[in-house]
Amino acid sequence: MPAFSSAQSRDINYHLHPYTNAVAHQKIGPRIIERGVGIYVYDEQGNKYLEAMAGLWSVAVGFGEPRLGEAAARQMRKLPYYHTFTHKSHAPSIELAEKLVGYTQGRMSRAFFTNSGSEANDTVVKLVWYYNNALGRAQKKKIIARQRGYHGVTVASASLTGLAANHRDFDLPLPQMKHTSCPHFYRQGRPGETEEDFATRMASDLEALILEEGPETVAAFIGEPVMGAGGVIIPPRTYWSKIQAVCRKYDLLIIADEVITGFGRLGTRFGSEAFGIEPDIMVLSKQITSSYQPLAAVLLSPEVTAVIADHSAALGTFGHGYTTSGHPVAAAVAIENLNIIDERGLVENAAATGAIMQAALLELAGHPLVGEVRGMGLIAGVELVADKESRRPFDPLGATGAAIYERAQENGLIVRGIQDTIAFCPPLIITPDQVADMVALFRKTLDEVHASMPG
Ligand code: PMP
Repeated sequence: MPAFSSAQSRDINYHLHPYTNAVAHQKIGPRIIERGVGIYVYDEQGNKYLEAMAGLWSVAVGFGEPRLGEAAARQMRKLPYYHTFTHKSHAPSIELAEKLVGYTQGRMSRAFFTNSGSEANDTVVKLVWYYNNALGRAQKKKIIARQRGYHGVTVASASLTGLAANHRDFDLPLPQMKHTSCPHFYRQGRPGETEEDFATRMASDLEALILEEGPETVAAFIGEPVMGAGGVIIPPRTYWSKIQAVCRKYDLLIIADEVITGFGRLGTRFGSEAFGIEPDIMVLSKQITSSYQPLAAVLLSPEVTAVIADHSAALGTFGHGYTTSGHPVAAAVAIENLNIIDERGLVENAAATGAIMQAALLELAGHPLVGEVRGMGLIAGVELVADKESRRPFDPLGATGAAIYERAQENGLIVRGIQDTIAFCPPLIITPDQVADMVALFRKTLDEVHASMPG
């Protein structure tokens, strides 16, 4: 048994952790992160880690940005809290809503605020239902998401998520949520199929599901422009235009879950821009405040806004909202954070330094453990395989990813293992030199794990 610090013991005794094996945690204990500066974090023993995941795909401006602390303190002193129910408002929520809508150049007309991506997607589900009730389409309620998509963990959001661990023994998904194919060409493509043919097949899978369910019962399609937590899956170039055409044909709302891709991750302000997606609803969180404060936003097109506004007027009120919707401190931090992203050209940096990161990771494609290197802007996935030629995965799946994750941490690098895909999503402030350090630490880790493998 390792000797635990007092803080570690108290954590083990009192804290049930999200996404953690609770029994293993008692033996392994927590790694307690004490502070962060730029792209680095430090644990309570003073060990330094290059945070190649920006926390949870979140910290655009890096750790320890003083302007965000100051913005929070200023707002705390002035108005630490007020709500936005029943015709009340405050300057930070007004300015943030205006800023977000402004970024979409007329595509969206209103912002609704929640505290997390999960709550935002739960809000979206309720809005889609409300919208169709307003239009007198009581049957049109099903929402199609994708296998391996990630949309959160509250009851409706977890139902949209297409990962077994989020459903199993939680009595999910809800019956209104359906899942169509995952656009991962490397894994799902058929022998001889081009990426273009594969994209066409993905769109016909969606159409077949809509027809099987009955188009009059299907209300919306939700997807991340690039899948993050499901394994960093970059769809074929024409995937979204083909999917969009099917959605329009059957009058489905298109929901872009931009919780990871929003605010520059792919080298464009939104992932929708990168893929030509024209969403009716957009979901934003994480990099909106660099996760210094909990905040998410749901943006609605003028058409969806009008239907919802009129229906709420007919019913007397819009019966939805959170005590902390548009929280003034979180909104003030978001505004300052988005100003920093603009002033420092971080979207442009994600494109430029992102290209350097993609090229550096691609140099690992010849490594004996590496099957596929995929990515865009400042997000990437490196999929490890037992056999490069046949793309045979490791058995058991995930053990190699976990070994890399552990070894990387000992080498001072924090990545994420998603089964056997190693994810990279560093802060948008990362420099080319830091990218080189990150990839060198990863290469060292790959070599060490490879050398330790039996024959
Ligand atoms: N949507 C996407 C695309 C996400 O990546 C996440 C979080 N990883 C969520 C929704 C859920 O956000 P939260 O964890 O804030 O509830």
